[in-house]
Amino acid sequence: MQFLSIKQIHKQLMSRERSSQEITKSFLDAIGEKDKEIHAFLSVSEEGAMRQAEKIDQKIAKGEAIGELAGIPFGIKDNIVLMGFRCTAASKILENYEAPYDATVVKKLKDAGAVILGKTNLDEFAMGSSTENSAYGATKNPHDLERVPGGSSGGSAAAVAAEMCVAALGSDTGGSIRQPAAFCGVVGFRATYGAVSRYGLIAMASSLDVIGPLARCVEDARIIFDAIRGKDTFDATSIEIKNEKLKTKNVRIGIPKEYFGEGIDKDVKKSVEGAIKKYEENGAKIQEISLPHAEYGLAVYYILMPSEVSANLARYDGIRYGAHEEADSLVETYRKTREKCFGNEVRRRIMLGTYTLSSGYYDAYYVRAEKVRMLIKQDFDNAFRLVDVIMTPVTPTVPFRFGEKSKDPVSMYLSDMFTVGANIAGLPAISIPCGWTLKEGKKLPVGLQIIGGEGRDYDVISIAQMFEIFQKSS
Ligand code: GLN
Repeated sequence: MQFLSIKQIHKQLMSRERSSQEITKSFLDAIGEKDKEIHAFLSVSEEGAMRQAEKIDQKIAKGEAIGELAGIPFGIKDNIVLMGFRCTAASKILENYEAPYDATVVKKLKDAGAVILGKTNLDEFAMGSSTENSAYGATKNPHDLERVPGGSSGGSAAAVAAEMCVAALGSDTGGSIRQPAAFCGVVGFRATYGAVSRYGLIAMASSLDVIGPLARCVEDARIIFDAIRGKDTFDATSIEIKNEKLKTKNVRIGIPKEYFGEGIDKDVKKSVEGAIKKYEENGAKIQEISLPHAEYGLAVYYILMPSEVSANLARYDGIRYGAHEEADSLVETYRKTREKCFGNEVRRRIMLGTYTLSSGYYDAYYVRAEKVRMLIKQDFDNAFRLVDVIMTPVTPTVPFRFGEKSKDPVSMYLSDMFTVGANIAGLPAISIPCGWTLKEGKKLPVGLQIIGGEGRDYDVISIAQMFEIFQKSS
């Protein structure tokens, strides 16, 4: 099957070339066929999806207007709630938790007529870079089944890459949309912090979390971002992003020297540099810049994130949500439930976070990390006085093999070295496929990251779209 964009599917629906039910059925069949092997979905709602498709067909038959997202088959990461649906966050602790309401993003997609096929796999509570931390088994990379799809939104990225849905939603706390997008060869966009409501997202680290699209092309990602963004009374941190005139002329691109040093796979580096060269050939001005505090990004992230995780995950006490282990006392109930139902990575981060927030260590770790966070943000502010966007690799390596990093948390954490900066500073950033490398006979995708200034989301998107235009014309 040839990949179809949202606009192309919309056209087919409008011209009645295919019905929404036919389209939905073809994606459900693709899931039936491919997902036994890939395991991108944790649950699929055939009936619900077909019912929604039928509604769209009725609208079309009556000649009613439908929007671009009407009838578009979606996957939703299983840490975003969908009313009446199980929402597990890939954790045993929420194995039987059924969501009593729709997340704002889900409500917006439903209102736009999107067809939700099911919930996609992730690392438990979105903690990880490979989906190996899912309590329900890892997802495989469609480009090489022996390799990870990235994480934590690995299910969403793999589902889009394997054409089991047109697009999917993911969440990004330290890179969880962009890194799996890069590993699976699709587009992944995380907006400015607050541009998309977090209401109904199972919180990981609230000051870093952003919901965003994974899609096959930049335009699809833009259409979805348009639909899900906006101020929301249910999320006090949400903001309105202006859709200003797009910047595509005389683009000034900053290349941070700190991001091209040691530790990058040479093929990844070559692809990314090749992509930047394309921009240069097409009139962009390339300029070396410096983000002097970038080297502290991972350290800051791995203090702030676990601190927030330890607070956010306190609510899973065996009483309020999901699993419950019977015990003689209340404290024993907490202990037994949490010990039995949280996986190792989640427990590691809760322990780290309670430590960094404990009296005596709070100033040395949490407060100091908040200060360095400001310095990192200032670095970006200074850079965006000189350039419009910053380009970097998304990940230092190509997709790795299962088990390659799961025994060594620090090597796993290093896969986030280029992505965490945008989260720490709250900036919009996109991952787009920019080339292929050959590893052991398999073609594996490489991603280019484009980071923009706060609120410059549409600049990032339109500059990313330029690359697709270069590729089409070359
Ligand atoms: N891989 C990162 C981590 O393990 C990012 C996770 C995320 O963005 N949800 O924390």
